[in-house]
Amino acid sequence: MNTTIEVGMAPITEEEVVVHFGEQGLSDSLVSVLRNRIRRQVESAIGRSFLRCEVQLYGGKVAGPGLPTKPLNARDAHKSGWVEFSGVKVTIDTERDHSGVSSLIYRAPLTTRRVLGEAVWGNEQHLQEKPLKTKRRFVIKDSFLTMPSDFLPWTKEQVGACVCPVEWLFPEGRSTASVREYVVWFCPICGKRYLCACAEGLKEYYKNLVSPERGDGQLNILHQPLFEAELRADICHLCRDVPPTRQAYDPMYGGSRIKLYYLPYINQLGIQSGLDMLNKEHKREAENLLRDRIGVPRVGEGWVSETELYRTIRAIFPGRRIEREASPDFLGKQRFDIYFPDEGVAVEYQGEQHAGPVGRFGGRSGHERAVERDQSKREKAEKAGVQLVEFWYYEKITEEKVRKRLGKFLGDE
Ligand SMILES: [Zn+2]
Ligand SMILES: [Zn+2]
Repeated sequence: MNTTIEVGMAPITEEEVVVHFGEQGLSDSLVSVLRNRIRRQVESAIGRSFLRCEVQLYGGKVAGPGLPTKPLNARDAHKSGWVEFSGVKVTIDTERDHSGVSSLIYRAPLTTRRVLGEAVWGNEQHLQEKPLKTKRRFVIKDSFLTMPSDFLPWTKEQVGACVCPVEWLFPEGRSTASVREYVVWFCPICGKRYLCACAEGLKEYYKNLVSPERGDGQLNILHQPLFEAELRADICHLCRDVPPTRQAYDPMYGGSRIKLYYLPYINQLGIQSGLDMLNKEHKREAENLLRDRIGVPRVGEGWVSETELYRTIRAIFPGRRIEREASPDFLGKQRFDIYFPDEGVAVEYQGEQHAGPVGRFGGRSGHERAVERDQSKREKAEKAGVQLVEFWYYEKITEEKVRKRLGKFLGDE
């Protein structure tokens, strides 16, 4: 008897979406929610013969012709009635003894089946078996998975009453094909755009770039999100003092990691200070303005304090959980200066008192105690399988050095 797997698609809740939301926007977070749901339901349908389920799904967009090319938002979705995900592929591996999987059915309890072009909600997807020696593999591939808009966490009424909560705003994608020059914030509920009040000058600057005499229709369209954005105080990364987690351009173009993540703000501070952002010297000066602002050393300069080391690590490895003065159980009363609990990586900044006696830290005996403590910390970390990375006050610690030393343990080379 072959198994038919039903994937019941109850409406997605705000709580589910918020877990994956981050800065990737609604489309990607919905993909994560759906992937998890499909995986879980496949796993429980297969039971003890379950080995693996991989779900591939590309970003959701509003289905239907003639709709604005905006990031996915509930208002547009309700207008169309559908959200469409593309490139669907589900791979299910089971033990050899499993009777097999015949099909996968998506079901939406709220909505009656409706037809949109070729795609039918509630469609039955047939699985193909790929012959393997040691296990059974079933694959379904489909061009689209189309879901009714009422599976979204926000109803039409909620969209109408949206106040655009700051925690839901996300930085819209790159403003040009290759580079993100500024950050416009987007509300996934009602589709409204905002610009942080601290970036007000940018509107004027880009408006002047679009000269009506030259008929720059392209530029006008390109910067439309900026022009239509409403000013709102304290929404950007700088004003909230949180590191951006999206890269502003393809890393293959080089530049510092700070630049990679903060380019829109380097651009903003440069323009607001009247710098010429096409001039190399000026660009460097703009980057330094940004570095001063977020409290990391200027271009090419080394560190003087643990705080600067922390702020740099946070800026160049964004999106990871980082604890300061962390005291995981195995460390007893001791602490790590900086700790990545998910990756099991600890960072210690060894100031002068760790290397030799320093008067103000208790002289010789103070130094000996520090050395003992450091040694015990190293042993505890090793036992716990935690990678301890140490930086010494006498090193010229550059951003590149930090990235190299930590990157290999954080899976980011
Ligand atoms: Zn809104
Ligand atoms: Zn701001």
